[in-house]
Amino acid sequence: MSRYYCPFCSSRYQIHKNRSDGVLVCGQCGDPLIKKTFLNSRRIIGVVAASAFLAPLLMMIFFVINNFTNERLPKNSESLVLLPYDK
Ligand SMILES: [Zn+2]
Repeated sequence: MSRYYCPFCSSRYQIHKNRSDGVLVCGQCGDPLIKKTFLNSRRIIGVVAASAFLAPLLMMIFFVINNFTNERLPKNSESLVLLPYDK
């Protein structure tokens, strides 16, 4: 896999050429190739969009679990809070 890619052409049909001055260019459109980065903008947008959908779900699960554990506690929780300080 090449570290360079053309942003204008399909990633499947990319022909990379070395121009006379040594710059890597796309064989189809002739534009200079862009170096691939680990976190490209498309991946960042995807992560942001995914987290926007997942965040409410995770918060809902968190609050449901929180509510569930609170209901199991006795009503007079003040005595529970003071317990560790008795010693
Ligand atoms: Zn191209």
